[in-house]
Amino acid sequence: MSDTTRSSALGSTGASELFQLLRDGLPRTRAELAAMTGLARSTVGLRLEALGELGLVGPYADAVSTGGRPPSRVALIPSARVVLGADVGAGHLSTALTDLMGRQLISRRTALEVSDGPEPVLSLLVAEADALLAELGRSRDDLIGVGIGLPGPVEFATGRPVNPPIMPGWDGFDVPGWMRRHLDVPVLVDNDVNLMALGERSRSWPDRDHFLFVKVATGIGAGIISGGRLQRGAQGIAGDIGHVQVARGAGIPCHCGNVGCLEAVASGPAVAAALRRVGHDVPGGAEVIDLVRRGDLDAIMAVRQAGRDLGEVLTACVNLVNPSVIAIGGSMAQAGEHLIAGVREVVYSRSMPLATEHLSIVQSRSGVDAAIIGAGMLAIHHALSPAALDELAAAV
Ligand SMILES: [Zn+2]
Repeated sequence: MSDTTRSSALGSTGASELFQLLRDGLPRTRAELAAMTGLARSTVGLRLEALGELGLVGPYADAVSTGGRPPSRVALIPSARVVLGADVGAGHLSTALTDLMGRQLISRRTALEVSDGPEPVLSLLVAEADALLAELGRSRDDLIGVGIGLPGPVEFATGRPVNPPIMPGWDGFDVPGWMRRHLDVPVLVDNDVNLMALGERSRSWPDRDHFLFVKVATGIGAGIISGGRLQRGAQGIAGDIGHVQVARGAGIPCHCGNVGCLEAVASGPAVAAALRRVGHDVPGGAEVIDLVRRGDLDAIMAVRQAGRDLGEVLTACVNLVNPSVIAIGGSMAQAGEHLIAGVREVVYSRSMPLATEHLSIVQSRSGVDAAIIGAGMLAIHHALSPAALDELAAAV
């Protein structure tokens, strides 16, 4: 906390480090901050002044008067700036502005084809950002960061997609570089399932440090949080469980070029194809969900079997990373308990008993919002980091 060796504008005062204590939004007195940091109260005062000049910290107005004059407290001003979270799907773009505590202020959802390529899609994203800012009465100057989720593998350090199967033209594209030429703020890009894991955990399971989020839709993937941190792996494809082989997949070709993958038997399109073979008119995953909701026994059994196939792979994951929660989301999770029941059936019977003693396997609570919540959080986390604050102060 007493690192004063940084040389940039804010950093030279240590204010960006002090700010980290206030990121939880709780109000504190100068005396409390001095006690927490070991700094002199006058030093705390100077650092708060620097943060006040950026508009990030200010006096905290107590809602209820207690009669006597309470010691003045300061806190993060959540509305000081906004961040943009964006979830690019195969056929949609969801965008939202959140405040600095991650509360969603406004959101939009529009149709697009990710296969149109990066420039049309990102141009639309910028237009959506401007529309949201205008609707909220804010300007681009208020925007402090952007987080984007893409439906394919992403090299997180560079924000470039890596051989994304459903995104022609995106391979290696410099998404942050392009975005910064249009919106001059830090831009972070990640795989959508990783962002769903971040969003779901922060919204519903903030005290769980070992957490798996599994998306079952057109594809199947997982986001892994271990030791409280998102694990992306060396190449950014950690959690890509859709192409693990399962017993029932023997001989069934997968679009990845292999045979027997989980995705080839348990994804929305795979379940739909299985139902077509027994005479149902189901073009895709959405119609499978409709059938399940109507109580069609073939559809219910097919979804439950998909859950068992998924459970086979998740059993290995449970023994490997020992999560305490597995949240299942994505469009096929709308089949509700039928999919989850299949997963539980296999995971609880085939994992090591100690690994499942306190394991919850549940449906995602954030639903379609999980990725956009996670994208906003990623942007906030970066935008409020000491390094980013120093950069912000230097630019003022
Ligand atoms: Zn495959």
